[in-house]
Amino acid sequence: MTDFSYAVDADGVATITWDTVGKSMNVMNEQGFIDLDALIDKALADDAVKGVILTSGKPDSFAGGMDLNIIAKMKESAGDDPARGLFDGIMATHAILRKIERGGMDDKNKGGKPIACAMQGTALGIGLEIPLACHRIFAADNPKAKIGLPEIMVGIFPGMGGTTRLVRKMGAMAASPLLLEGKLNDPKKAKMAGIVDEVVPADELLAKAKEWVLSEPSIVKPWDEKGYKMPGGAPYHPAGFMTFVGASAMVNGKTKGVYPAAKALLSSVYEGAMVPFDTALKIETRWFTNVLMNPSSANMIRSLFINKEALEKGAVRPDVPDQKVQKVGVIGAGMMGAGIALISALAGIEVVLIDAKQDAADKGKSYTADYMDKGIARKKATEEKKEQVLGLINATTDYDALKGCDLIVEAVFEDVGVKAEVTKKVQAVTGPDCIFATNTSTLPITELAKASKDSSDFIGIHFFSPVDKMMLVEIIKGQQTGDRAVAKALDYVRQIKKTPIVVNDARFFYANRCIIPYINEGIRMVKEGVAPALIENAAKLIGMPLGPLQLVDETSIDLGVKIAKATKAAMGDAYPDGAIDEVLFWMADEGRLGRKSNAGFYDYDDKGKRQLLWDGLAAKYPTAAEQPELHEVQNRLLFAQVLEAVRAIEEDVLMDIREGDVGAILGWGFAPWSGGPLSWLDMVGTPWAAETTNALAEKHGKRFEAPALLQEMAAKNQTFYGRFDPAKAA
Ligand code: NAD
Repeated sequence: MTDFSYAVDADGVATITWDTVGKSMNVMNEQGFIDLDALIDKALADDAVKGVILTSGKPDSFAGGMDLNIIAKMKESAGDDPARGLFDGIMATHAILRKIERGGMDDKNKGGKPIACAMQGTALGIGLEIPLACHRIFAADNPKAKIGLPEIMVGIFPGMGGTTRLVRKMGAMAASPLLLEGKLNDPKKAKMAGIVDEVVPADELLAKAKEWVLSEPSIVKPWDEKGYKMPGGAPYHPAGFMTFVGASAMVNGKTKGVYPAAKALLSSVYEGAMVPFDTALKIETRWFTNVLMNPSSANMIRSLFINKEALEKGAVRPDVPDQKVQKVGVIGAGMMGAGIALISALAGIEVVLIDAKQDAADKGKSYTADYMDKGIARKKATEEKKEQVLGLINATTDYDALKGCDLIVEAVFEDVGVKAEVTKKVQAVTGPDCIFATNTSTLPITELAKASKDSSDFIGIHFFSPVDKMMLVEIIKGQQTGDRAVAKALDYVRQIKKTPIVVNDARFFYANRCIIPYINEGIRMVKEGVAPALIENAAKLIGMPLGPLQLVDETSIDLGVKIAKATKAAMGDAYPDGAIDEVLFWMADEGRLGRKSNAGFYDYDDKGKRQLLWDGLAAKYPTAAEQPELHEVQNRLLFAQVLEAVRAIEEDVLMDIREGDVGAILGWGFAPWSGGPLSWLDMVGTPWAAETTNALAEKHGKRFEAPALLQEMAAKNQTFYGRFDPAKAA
């Protein structure tokens, strides 16, 4: 069965309808290109056909993108020269799209047939690159539709002509944010931006497209006309020159040079703007091939696209019947509980939000009202939607309201006694099928489960702050946690549209276990006299979103003190971080608690805006005359995190390496360009990693010694994805 069908009506308009078999949204695959090419040939060759409409058989969308297997096949097609295979494969695709764009015209732009694209809704990636090759884009007025080129978000860039065409259509300045940030627009905004040509009522979409096709329109693209000038000027024009100075600075400022795709995209735009269109396509192809051959891009696609989606779709879900949540009880309406209530209600789930006092419960609910008001101000929500969402939240102190809940998420104070009391109080009301989840960030799940009636129905669902923004949810299995509890947690996370990882119970679970040593290494270096600016910049230059000192300011220094004290109490003599505590406790004594007190490792102005690093730090911990090499600081910051990820595998906290990578990027922003800590180890090679970290251990202490697993893998020159990839094992 083919994904494309063809019909010619009585007026001589051929309609090519794209309807990918077995998918809710169209996806371009290898056969799809062959079929589309053949149908375009057929329409252009048939004298009875006056013009063509390309549309979708899906009611609300045009196309969602491309099956990335196409890339893999192209790579394999030229034997041991994958770059050649990619280049040739992409050029062949350009030939199809260029055929659409020329519409059968001769060299003098004579003859030819108009080809309109009629999009019912969402058009992403190749799903917009094909329309951009058509002569006119009609979009249905469907406010839910998303239109754009988001490739940069997964480490590539639009390389099927999208970059070259968008820049020529809109100008480099206007196209840059769409290409560099992957910004998506609804149809009306896409029209204002100049991406689509017309927005029409959904039920008139095909009629309007047909009317245009039959109107004998001019179909020559501006860039195929003599004397074409790029909107806003090309790079050698003064206006264009300024664009590129700014864009180049912006890209380097944002990416710190670690994302190959952003640089390649900009080069493609710059170089392509100086040459005729077909040469520009060739340049785009060279850069696209270059990016696709870079391991960073392959890793980002694997973690941020393939594996993230697999986890969201339940790759690690136990085989248990559907556990979709109908009514959730959120206990504790503080910072976390308020956010959990909000995202649950947004997902259409009935919420009972409980706190010890009614005004605290009401305050928690008001977080949702404020969130919706902001949405209304930005025209992303309506008053009706706000009422509907608020109507789902019952803020109360009455535990009886929890009757009928099938999931509880407890987010009260971080205290074993308080949590145990709440667990008992809740379970006096809820039925035997209700799953009890705790949002603790530090307390062992197996321990907390002891207060519960049945520890197989007890689980950790660990949200990150702020709940509405952070995409990761860490699900923690206690020793007795059963499959139904895991399935319930996973189905809930799917309902609230976040990405789950499932880990076993251990100190700090997975994310905090890795991020705390990163913060600690930064503070340790301050104590050693490493310049704080070097520490912070080294972190940024390896692609961490926040330096360790900024991060501890954000999460608060007194929280660091609390965690340090609790860890020391639990570990006794084995506690390794005394040197850090000295700095941390001193900062707390100085009243410098981080952003919340407007004073921390950084200074803040009256409005709370972060300023420079605090110079009082240098007075207490003078900067050493001799500073380490940038690379050494970077390796310390990287290995502090990465070794914990390896230990988490060794200790069976991480059961699936995909979760280790996806969780690291979404949970604490681990250098996304690398694809995650385990992908990074594969990229640099386990032998180099073991040798480098062992050298760090000799200089800086045992914490850097390569764990046995890494040592063993280095000796065998193994990769993590070679040895552990569950996708391959499946
Ligand atoms: P918070 O202090 O803002 O909120 C706790 C709320 O629980 C308060 O409103 C309090 O009145 C209420 N409460 C206390 N005892 C209660 C009881 N017996 N019955 C009903 N309500 C009660 O704390 P938070 O930051 O929202 O943290 C809550 C939980 O989430 C903690 O376990 C914490 O470790 C965890 N957590 C926090 C973060 C974070 O960044 N703040 C991140 C992940 C997990």
